[in-house]
Amino acid sequence: MASCKRGEKRRKDRSASKMEETEDSTEKKGRTRQQKKYIGAHVSIAGGIWKAVEASVEMGGHSFGLFLGSQRSWQRPALDQTAAAKFQQACTQHGFNPTHILPHGSYLMNCGSPKEDVLSKSQAMLVDELSRCSVLGLTLFNFHPGASIDSSKEQCIERIAEAINHAHQQIPAVCTVLENMSGQGTTVGGQFSELKSIIDRVRDKTRVGVCLDTCHAFAAGYDISAAGGVKAVLDEFDQVVGLHYLRAVHLNDSKGKLGCHLDRHEDIGRGQIGISAFRNIVNDPRLDNIPLILETPGRPGFEYDDQIKLLYSLCED
Ligand SMILES: [Zn+2]
Ligand SMILES: [Zn+2]
Repeated sequence: MASCKRGEKRRKDRSASKMEETEDSTEKKGRTRQQKKYIGAHVSIAGGIWKAVEASVEMGGHSFGLFLGSQRSWQRPALDQTAAAKFQQACTQHGFNPTHILPHGSYLMNCGSPKEDVLSKSQAMLVDELSRCSVLGLTLFNFHPGASIDSSKEQCIERIAEAINHAHQQIPAVCTVLENMSGQGTTVGGQFSELKSIIDRVRDKTRVGVCLDTCHAFAAGYDISAAGGVKAVLDEFDQVVGLHYLRAVHLNDSKGKLGCHLDRHEDIGRGQIGISAFRNIVNDPRLDNIPLILETPGRPGFEYDDQIKLLYSLCED
């Protein structure tokens, strides 16, 4: 199957007139697997946040991830209104729906920290991140739940849920999306049951979800590389958390072996997970219509555009 076919079609859609858009929506029922899959990559905001949209279009992405500010600093300048307007314009122009854009939270944040100062800075940062989403017209916000350090996992989970509830009170509408972790160190969220425990404590269940990172899941011990593994892991996710909470997937192969608890991403098909798991992922109808975002190294000769093409070529109808 011509892997670029979908890219060409969507690019046409993006510049389509109103009449064509209507035609497109009447076609919806007959959409192919490729057209139901929103594959993209984490893109840079260097030079202005709207550049993320352009970079996504360039690489043939139909969804994307991005940071909403510097990853190095707790104190970040407010989002520039003009830049935010340009970002929204670019999204509209290129046909990116907010539900296919998944901002990633700052790595500095630990909403489960037992340390007073880190916790209060993290709580404030979560509010700030959600407010940035609002300004950009975005509806999802993905972050790493947190780490317990020298406290118990239960206490950590309580603090994370409190931070989410607090942020929900401050900022309306944006959905907080918890990422599953590799189980490295004292991080919480390696086990699906831990994500569920956080969700259980969030008051507004319509504003909490999960982003399933394939590398993290594999490193945490969920064997998506086995025959039938993707199906089995999604079934388990459905039983433990509920598939209706699944808002996104991070598509990453893993340098480390099954259950290694290391968070080390590899290019698609070049790690321990292997290509057949990704074929199963792009063909699973339960993963239709949600962002599937690459966060791989993208080595020379196998960059994001190549990996996006490869993934679309694996779609079987
Ligand atoms: Zn992440
Ligand atoms: Zn991830």
